[in-house]
Amino acid sequence: MAKRPTHPQLCLVIPCYNEEPVLPQLIERLSTLKLEIPYRVLFVDDGSRDGTLRYLESVCASDERMACLSLSRNFGHQVAVSAGLRHAKGDVVVILDADLQDPPELLPDFLAQWHNGYDVVYGIRTNRKETFLMRMAYSVFYRLLDRSANVTIPRDSGDFALIDRRVVEVINSLPEHNRFVRGMRAWVGFRQTGVSYERPARVAGKSGYSLRKLITLALDGLIGFSTVPLRMAFWLGMGAFFWGIARLPGLVGQTWFDDWLPFANITTLILLLGGLQLAVLGIIGEYIGRILDEVRGRPIYVLKHRLGWAAESD
Ligand code: UDP
Ligand code: MG
Repeated sequence: MAKRPTHPQLCLVIPCYNEEPVLPQLIERLSTLKLEIPYRVLFVDDGSRDGTLRYLESVCASDERMACLSLSRNFGHQVAVSAGLRHAKGDVVVILDADLQDPPELLPDFLAQWHNGYDVVYGIRTNRKETFLMRMAYSVFYRLLDRSANVTIPRDSGDFALIDRRVVEVINSLPEHNRFVRGMRAWVGFRQTGVSYERPARVAGKSGYSLRKLITLALDGLIGFSTVPLRMAFWLGMGAFFWGIARLPGLVGQTWFDDWLPFANITTLILLLGGLQLAVLGIIGEYIGRILDEVRGRPIYVLKHRLGWAAESD
């Protein structure tokens, strides 16, 4: 079992996008947190348009445990978390949402499991305070991911997790541009376990995830961790081909005897097959688009400035 340092240091990574309304409550909840080990906080301002950065500047100025990375624009949650992981200090890192949907009060349980020898401890959401439709969508997505991904990504686990320094280093060394943090976290291996918790609603403000961002996240997960959609496209094509073969004798007979091909029949077939082909091209396109992202090799984020202890080194 991995030996834990005698005086470990904890670093909380908190991505923030337009979180001005929740920040006072977040700081309050963090300040009342009773932890056995000292902790520092690294906020990542993901190009917020409201007063988030201003608020974080004052927080960093008044408390030396606080630091902030400010990204040059909105790069998205997964990139903000990745930036945080790269700059986090300490022996253990915890990724936490700013909106208090990931209760910091769970940290003692996480730490206990870390002391038990687990290198990754992630939160498992037992129930979600979301609309019925969203819950259904999440459920379908996690089941699909479970069946198709080539690593087991724990169902209903989000990015809320405690990660040991060794594992953080491995995640940081993964070069991919399409960051699906919970997938990379599952991929690295080591000893992992989950802690169940009820996911509350966000305390204030509104979700920074638009439907488009959510769909992109879902596709990043599915496409980044599985080639099943491509194989599915192949089988769909084969199915359509054999369907056509099966219809061939009937079609020949019909032309022979009736000398007339039902128009409706043909248009339906064209629509069906044309649609199928475009859909399959779309699937391939999703992969190609991501390959292009990887090949271009741009940095995944641009830092505007660093505040607090994050400004000190490297
Ligand atoms: N977030 C971010 N960049 C974005 C969207 C969200 O850094 O483009 C942060 C946000 O501030 C929060 C976390 O990611 O701390 C989770 O986002 P949110 O609560 O909006 O998502 P939801 O819980 O609704 O899925
Ligand atoms: Mg949230």
